[in-house]
Amino acid sequence: MPRSHPGRAPGTRGGRFPVLDPATGKAFDEAPDQQPEELDAVVGRAHEAWRGWRANSLARSKALLTAADAVEAAGADLAPLLTREQGKPLAESYAEVARAAARLRYFGEMGAELAPESQEITDGRPVRGEIRWRPLGPTAAIVPWNFPLQLASAKFAPALAAGNTVVLKPSPFTPLATRLLGSVLSTALPENVLTVVTGREPLGARLASHPGIRHVTFTGSVPTGRAVARGAAASLAQVTLELGGNDAAILLDDVDVERIAERLFWAAFRNCGQVCMAVKRVYAPARLYARVVEALAEHAKTVVVGAGLDPDTQLGPVNNAPQLAGVERRTARALADGARAAAGGHRLDRPGYFFAPTVLADVPPASPVVTEEQFGPVLPVLPYRSLDESVDAANDTGFGLGGSVWGTDLDRAGAVADRLECGTAWINHHAELSLAQPFAGIKDSGVGVAGGPWGLYGNLRPFVVHRPEET
Ligand code: NAD
Repeated sequence: MPRSHPGRAPGTRGGRFPVLDPATGKAFDEAPDQQPEELDAVVGRAHEAWRGWRANSLARSKALLTAADAVEAAGADLAPLLTREQGKPLAESYAEVARAAARLRYFGEMGAELAPESQEITDGRPVRGEIRWRPLGPTAAIVPWNFPLQLASAKFAPALAAGNTVVLKPSPFTPLATRLLGSVLSTALPENVLTVVTGREPLGARLASHPGIRHVTFTGSVPTGRAVARGAAASLAQVTLELGGNDAAILLDDVDVERIAERLFWAAFRNCGQVCMAVKRVYAPARLYARVVEALAEHAKTVVVGAGLDPDTQLGPVNNAPQLAGVERRTARALADGARAAAGGHRLDRPGYFFAPTVLADVPPASPVVTEEQFGPVLPVLPYRSLDESVDAANDTGFGLGGSVWGTDLDRAGAVADRLECGTAWINHHAELSLAQPFAGIKDSGVGVAGGPWGLYGNLRPFVVHRPEET
């Protein structure tokens, strides 16, 4: 298996780097390997473009709606390319493109309505303050490889609606669909309002710390998020960080196992488990434990694994070699520590980065597959004896992205959900988000809020005009 990583890819030549198809492990194309020095000109042009873009909110709304139409119309080009470099089933790539377009449309239609109105305030003294809301300025959007288009649009759509310009950097594992998205958007947006840059590190580090950037909005892992925050501190740019998760699903003793098993399975395994807010640990009452393991393992054994472009495929490969190595290492360690693979437990014997959908039983709670974010098609199922024990275990992590509670008595499930220390808690499902809701992790899972009106506010700052009452 090729072990190339975009951070140190072999065979790089002429300012380009290879892009691999995770279904084969082989390069199928290349992307420009832009150098950090190029950012000065890119950010400079984003500053220039900001003057015009910030001035007219009606023009912005129209441009975002045109952009939404253009993205939708380009679905047949974007989706296969996304599958090729990311690995996900083609239908999921189409859904991702649709989601990116929907985000643009939401902010195009609602941007002006969602924006906070200017407001007069007084504190009883004869002075008057008028609060207006202004964009922050050129924004760096840095995104990972699991949902390149969807996560990018979740950043640039509210940033652009608020009147900022954006420099967007995709992961070097998935640069191509984002580059194409950039050229599709250039048909709808004024020049330099959105610029896509591709390249390997230290391009992202340099972008996050660039003195011309006023806001860094980042989605990715916790360690990189910390590095981004340190980098942005150099210019005291605002940061928004959407980081990793290790979401627990707690099954209550009145849960209908057979009824929820398929939904729970997909909440953990969609996009091959490479979802920040996927279910990454299941806590089941001891009485139901064997049935829960068996029901999940049944789905894991029968799901169709294959290349994303194959129409029968339900689960694609892991995106890249280092990620696969991490999944393999944590699974092997759990098995060595006494866990049992009720399904899978190993790589698939075929080219590409395929790992058998894996359900692990009898896992020691301190095993890294439980305590760390495994981010792959592996799900540990743990038994609990008391509800308090399950809530404590769910909360006993540095992460705080999401969590869910599954049961028949919805009031009781709601009361348990209230006790979860995370940004979003679901009942009887997981990882569903509306465009209109806030999304934010607590603890190591993030800083700042995305989604809905709150996503827009995060791209604005107050500006106050203060004057004596009588003038
Ligand atoms: P990553 O942190 O390795 O990379 C994310 C992005 O940062 C990439 O574009 C990468 O090239 C860039 N980067 C790398 N080093 C950098 C540096 N020093 N400075 C600036 N940028 C740098 O993450 P990944 O492996 O691509 O993605 C998986 C992670 O993303 C998981 O932890 C997952 O939970 C998280 N994630 C979080 C959310 C959320 O909304 N909370 C959503 C999706 C994924």
